[in-house]
Amino acid sequence: MTSRIDYSLIPGPVLQLCRTLEGKGHEAHLVGGGVRDMLMGRPVHDWDVATSARPKQVQRLFRRCIPTGIKHGTVTVLLGAGDEELPIEVTTYRGEGAYSDGRRPDEICFVSSLEEDLSRRDLTINAMAVDPLRRRLVDPLEGQRDLERGLIRAVGVAAERFGEDGLRVMRAVRFAAVLELHLEEATEAAIGPAIPVFRKVSRERVRDELLKLLEAPRPSVGLEIMRRTGLMAEVLPELLAGVGLTQNRHHPHDVYRHTLLVVDSAPPRALIRLTALLHDVGKPPTAADNPRRPGEKSFHDHERVGARMADTICGGLRLSNKERQRVVALIRAHNFRLDGWTDRATRRFLARMEPALLEELFELKRADVMGKGGDPGRLEKVDELWARLQAELSRAPALRTNDLALDGRLLMTHLGLEPGPRVGQIMRALLERVVDEPDLNEEATLLRLAEEIHAA
Ligand code: ATP
Ligand code: MG
Repeated sequence: MTSRIDYSLIPGPVLQLCRTLEGKGHEAHLVGGGVRDMLMGRPVHDWDVATSARPKQVQRLFRRCIPTGIKHGTVTVLLGAGDEELPIEVTTYRGEGAYSDGRRPDEICFVSSLEEDLSRRDLTINAMAVDPLRRRLVDPLEGQRDLERGLIRAVGVAAERFGEDGLRVMRAVRFAAVLELHLEEATEAAIGPAIPVFRKVSRERVRDELLKLLEAPRPSVGLEIMRRTGLMAEVLPELLAGVGLTQNRHHPHDVYRHTLLVVDSAPPRALIRLTALLHDVGKPPTAADNPRRPGEKSFHDHERVGARMADTICGGLRLSNKERQRVVALIRAHNFRLDGWTDRATRRFLARMEPALLEELFELKRADVMGKGGDPGRLEKVDELWARLQAELSRAPALRTNDLALDGRLLMTHLGLEPGPRVGQIMRALLERVVDEPDLNEEATLLRLAEEIHAA
């Protein structure tokens, strides 16, 4: 069946832009992801126009322009009023230029035809154009046929495309996973040989692709391609150590397989998926034979070891500090039991955990249970524990020193202390007592306890 483009989806400002360019004797077509997404019936998130006009000419024709990527021939034109305002990326027909370093073309080279411009693009499904005024699809590289066959295929000779820009191998994998299409064999086969070129790509660009891949319906599909082709050994070699590493009675799968299942089961947001991907990286280095259970392994302290490893990995991926700390804190906290909780234990747990992370920690925990086979009884226990923690929170127990019914200044006068670390120590010791016994949280009681702690 041939899918059709619903031309009514093309926003007014895009039509207006193309009309204006044509009125001045230039060509203008919608290109790239927007065309692909319209054909697939997916929402279009950016509108890219390819034109024969030079960037200077584009800038002269439109009042509101941002020279976004002028070096690459791209001008962002803002068109439409008020809510209708739309940024449209207008790029002059480009050729390949020379990629001497595999990162980016050294210099842009403009070309004269749309067909040439399309033939330097990465994948056939990204190399289609639409003439929005005549409602015509321009598809010399048969992207539509590939879409209908469900194929991700490089434009022309895959090895050449991948040799020109090392990021393209990751893009191919990402689109296969995100769009749930099959990576054509010859295209996949060209990934391994292109790895030396991939190594030259900046880590920021790799990170962006990895995070997009992680938002796929099932990232495992892409992660498996990465493993097969050698990309994983470049981007996340730590995960490979889990391949074939069998675990224990709680786990039907090896560490790697379990990890993929947890990633797929986590909600489709990049950061929680990345956390899932790294949550057990501490297992291979901590694996030991369990002396009490022959044939089974234990992974003592794997959450701490894993948290440290994740810290390094996230740094390498150039995540922001805030994102990195979030991933690390979740991994450090993920290995808690589901049985045998006392009220005191729930408060200790809440006191250790940053409240803003609690919800994600449970998302991770649910995914982790799914990765062990998704036993409904275990999932129920996760929900029960969640409800129990919420109930405890609704009683507003003291969980931070700020919640104590005593402030540091009164403590200092009472004990005759100067400001200094001792004050904080005593406050934390008081908090520990109060977390265990909330009834102690009264000024007079705390002052008495503080005397004892100080004297001890
Ligand atoms: P999305 O925006 O959904 O990630 P997209 O296909 O729009 O997907 P962009 O990065 O926005 O991807 O690029 C727009 C178009 O530019 C692509 O469809 C493709 O034709 C071309 N393109 C982007 N990056 C490359 C690249 N590294 N090599 C070759 N062509 C590329
Ligand atoms: Mg895009």
